[in-house]
Amino acid sequence: MDNNDSLQQELRALREELAQVQSRYDFIMRALEHLPNPIFIKDADARFTYFNTCYAEAFGMERERYLGKSVLDLDYLPHAARERYQEEDLGLIQSASVVTYEVDFKFADGRLHPSLYWSKGFHDEDGNPSGLIGEIVDISRERNLQDSLGSTMEKLRESNLQLQRLSEIDTHTGVHNRRFLNKRAKEFDESHSEEVHISCGLMCDLDHFKRVNDRYGHLKGDEILARFASILQNECRESDLPVRYGGEEFLLLLGRVNLQGGVRVAERIRRRCEQEILLPDSEPVTVSIGVSEIDKDQSLEHNIATLDRRMYLAKKNGRNCVIAEG
Ligand code: GH3
Ligand code: MG
Ligand code: MG
Repeated sequence: MDNNDSLQQELRALREELAQVQSRYDFIMRALEHLPNPIFIKDADARFTYFNTCYAEAFGMERERYLGKSVLDLDYLPHAARERYQEEDLGLIQSASVVTYEVDFKFADGRLHPSLYWSKGFHDEDGNPSGLIGEIVDISRERNLQDSLGSTMEKLRESNLQLQRLSEIDTHTGVHNRRFLNKRAKEFDESHSEEVHISCGLMCDLDHFKRVNDRYGHLKGDEILARFASILQNECRESDLPVRYGGEEFLLLLGRVNLQGGVRVAERIRRRCEQEILLPDSEPVTVSIGVSEIDKDQSLEHNIATLDRRMYLAKKNGRNCVIAEG
């Protein structure tokens, strides 16, 4: 084998190697083209060495025009943004570090695309700044999901609140029920006296209500209970709490009222009841009421026991009256 032959052989081997390198390069490039996210690679001076079709289409950038250019040449960006990105690119290349953040990119379709942007500078094997690679992931879908999840959660919170409010209302009369009172009682017992503004209580019990039911039926009885509750609500201020305490017993907790004030409210309720709620035979429906100031050093249960005692005294006293002592 002469010299020429061996040179030819060497050349063939080199060509084969080159073909292999070329095919591997083509393969990697093809793979990058198939990446569904925009990606870019920049050189040590932060100039575009490569960007895939997805990137070109997203930003409307032709390869012929922009390869070899830096972010400073992206005329669709405002000047300040270009300078900021260039500074960021060079810093990342220098330090071989990574940034990642969410940003709204304006794509060539004219729309803002919420995106996750990351890019990383890298060095060669000798430790010299070498380039930058970056990717943009369009997260519009995730953002929309997040937004709709947020508004669903908000609606859920509202319906929960509504449900809770409804569960604390007596459906028949529209005033609060015992569940509500129990919750407030806990707050009342656990809080310092100044925080709770209930100062006076009224326990109202309709007179001879069993007789009303017996004579006119349960439905008539129910109607009377609703009418009495509406008188109570009518006499209430924003800070007062009317509660259906039992069947035909209603508790009214008043805010910022002393005993005389409480008695005045009780008298008004008693009078309105006998004047406004008449039975079919024109006999008035009457109510007996016990009134007491609320002692904030005692539990609500203890205060209610006092109200109950006075309400029974009113019954003993002949009914249709208000008792505020004993
Ligand atoms: P008093 O003057 O001593 O209070 O006599 P009363 O008949 O009102 O007292 P009692 O406690 O013996 O009876 C209360 C009655 O209230 C018994 C029950 O039939 C009636 N009642 C309780 N809840 C309801 C209700 O939701 N609807 C109707 N229609 N009646 C009810
Ligand atoms: Mg009763
Ligand atoms: Mg009764």
